[in-house]
Parts: sequence; C-alpha cells; structure tokens
Amino acid sequence: MDFELPETHRLLRDTVRDFAEREVKPLAGEWDREQRFPHEIVPKLAELGLLGIKIPELYQGSGLDMLAYAICVEEIARVDGSLALTVASHNGLGTGHILAFGTEEQKQKYLSKAARGEWLAAWALTEPGSGSDSAALKTSARRDGDHWLIRGSKMFITQGSVGGFCVVLARTRFDVPAQRGITAFIVETTTPGYSASKKLEKYGCRASDTVEITLDDVRVSDAQRLGEVDAGFRDTMRILDGGRVSIAAMALGLGRGALEMAVRYAKDRSAFGKTISEFQSIQFMLADAKTGLDAAALLTYRAACLADRGQRFTEEASMAKLFASEVATKVCNDALQIHGGYGYTREFDVERHLRDVKLCEIGEGTSQVQRMVIAKNLLRE
Ligand SMILES: Cc1cc2nc3c(=O)[nH]c(=O)nc-3n(C[C@H](O)[C@H](O)[C@H](O)COP(=O)(O)OP(=O)(O)OC[C@H]3O[C@@H](n4cnc5c(N)ncnc54)[C@H](O)[C@@H]3O)c2cc1C
Repeated sequence: MDFELPETHRLLRDTVRDFAEREVKPLAGEWDREQRFPHEIVPKLAELGLLGIKIPELYQGSGLDMLAYAICVEEIARVDGSLALTVASHNGLGTGHILAFGTEEQKQKYLSKAARGEWLAAWALTEPGSGSDSAALKTSARRDGDHWLIRGSKMFITQGSVGGFCVVLARTRFDVPAQRGITAFIVETTTPGYSASKKLEKYGCRASDTVEITLDDVRVSDAQRLGEVDAGFRDTMRILDGGRVSIAAMALGLGRGALEMAVRYAKDRSAFGKTISEFQSIQFMLADAKTGLDAAALLTYRAACLADRGQRFTEEASMAKLFASEVATKVCNDALQIHGGYGYTREFDVERHLRDVKLCEIGEGTSQVQRMVIAKNLLRE
C-alpha cells in the first residue's frame, strides 16, 4: 500500500522498518514481560530523528511532515505498540504542543533537548475524574505574582515518570464555561511539587510509561505558560487532531504486523492433510484483514496529507482513528485465532499485538468520542 507515498516517504518507511526489525522486534517481548520502559533505545530513536520528527532542523529536529510522522509511528508499531505509543505521544502531544503554540524561547529551550532525546515529553490532560469529558478537568493554576501555582492530579500520563517535561492543562478561570478557562503550562518534571506515582499495571502497551501525576502547588513562572491564558482548551483540540492521526497509524502498524504473522503461520501450519491457508474460512479472514487495513491506511494518510496542506482535518483524523483502531483490533483478534492455541501463548507476538492495539480504541478519545466528533461535523454542514 505505498502507491500514493512520495519517494522520500517510501525511503523513510524502509529506514524505520529496518531499524524496527533490527533494534526493536527482538526485544519488544522482553520489555513487555518485564513492563520496563526501554531507556536504552532512546538514544537510538534520537539518532534516527524519531524524537524530533516534525521539529524543524533549526531546533535539531528532522523537519518532516505529518505524513512522515504517521509512517514512522506505523513502522514502529508493526513490531511494538509500546514504543510506537512513546514515539507518537512524545512527538505529537508534548513537543507538538510547544511547536504549535510555544514562544521562540520555549522552542529553543525544549525542542532541541526533545529531539536529541535528552528530555522525553509528556502531556497531561486526563484526570482521575475526567477523560472523555476533558474540559471538566479540576487541576487549577492560580497566579502568584509573575508565577503560577498548579495544583491537582493527572491520570494515565504517558512518559509521566520518565519525561523531562510535561505540558499540563489546568483551569485558570472558574467563572466561565469550562472550555474558555483552561491554560497550558510547561512543567519540568524536577520542579518541586511534581511527582509521579508508581507505574500503572496495564493490559497492553506495558513497556510504555503510564503514571498518575500529582501536582502539589507546582510553582512555574509565566514564561512557562504555553499559549494564551484561558485558550488552552482550543489549542488542545488542535493538538489532539494530530495525535489522532498518530494513533490511527499505530493501529495500522499493529494490524499489519499481526497480519504478516497470520499469513506466515497459515502457510506453515497443517491440519486435515493440508496447510490451514488452504481453508477458505482462513483465507477470508486474511482477505478481510488486508482490505480493512488498506482502507485504514488511505484514511490515515488522507488526514495526514490534509494537515500537511494546512487544511482543517478534525473530522478526517477522527474517521481515521475510529476506523483504523476498530479494524486493527479485529485484525489482531483474527490473527490470534489463526494461530489457534499457540496464539494464546507468549510464544508468539500476536497476543501482544492484540493487547497493545486495544489502546488505540481508547487513548486520545475513545471510539465513542470519535463518533461524536464525526457526527457533530456532519450535522453542522
Ligand atoms: C495507556 C494509556 C495512555 C494514555 N496516555 C495519556 C496521556 O499521555 N495524556 C493524557 O492526557 N491522557 C492519556 N490517556 C487517557 C485517555 O485519553 C483516556 O483514558 C480516554 O480519553 C478515555 O477517558 P476515561 O478513561 O476517563 O474514560 P471515560 O471518559 O470515563 O469513558 C468511559 C466510557 O464511557 C464512554 N463515554 C464517555 N462519554 C460518553 C458519551 N458522551 N457518549 C457515549 N459514550 C461515552 C467512553 O467512550 C468509554 O467507553 C491514556 C490512556 C491510556 C489507557
């Protein structure tokens, strides 16, 4: 499915695929079993430019576009959902927010370190009491001279304990509708009052760092404010549009990896005197998987290309994420089915893909939330 990809992007895909096959695939199962964030891979990701995909060369990034970002995430996900989630959230959320709305000083200070892998980025919107209804967040930031005091807690924060900085969304006004009183701040994770709890034990993406964060009167200067006061929610919705393209790409990669495993296994495994690939019911599962994933790729690349042309892509990003995540979850489930009992063991990576891909139907807006976004756009027309 590369007929529409420009030559530059095909080359990028081959490079990232080669890296993922050599450096990630052999270890991904071990990282998952140990539920360990693989710090040792970070310098290698940085060396390949995967920690500053869209960061301009001026700040030591790769200066690539959204389509390139999607392809990088897809290729990592083909072998490891956890690392794909790290690359997706670091590039799209934490650094993406600074790139889109930061001051020149903030870009100088944070983006180069992020691209070099010295500081991984986290991004904190979700709270213990608010996820889909994200504007209902309760974390507050109140002025203290030319500083702000941030207080509250955040839930499910990727890179929350291994990151160097975290973009935190906090309420700065309580007397206006929720969406109009939220502001973003860059909080360095060594700032007094910032603490990350023990890693959450998860069903999938177990080698990705996911923590609850406590912000106990974290004091930051106004220079750490990201974007306009009270305009953080509007900016957040724009950041999530791009993030959703990357989660669609992550689903696509996990699905493609699982399909490759299923094809290999079906040609290898025999039953009733023939390989199971000769049974039509197996062939139909494979055919549906290939068709669904190619359709998901078209939706994902379309959303990325719209973003690269500077056009609005909210609805397209939601459609890509909704379709890719649901198709890929079915593909991974069918791929496990094709592996029979062996698929249910840790001997094969297919069970890890199934566990990892489920996240794509939840993170950065559940499937229900994507349907709400799509329907709202449709009914507004
Ligand atoms: C591994 C992982 C990593 C994450 N990383 C981050 C991160 O880095 N930063 C961050 O800020 N967040 C992160 N999240 C949080 C994620 O974005 C939220 O979990 C997600 O948005 C859902 O919110 P919730 O868990 O509170 O579910 P809820 O909002 O409580 O939803 C529960 C159920 O109700 C449904 N529902 C809710 N409202 C409606 C409605 N109006 N109509 C129909 N159904 C509805 C939902 O679809 C869901 O099925 C992460 C989550 C996970 C699991």
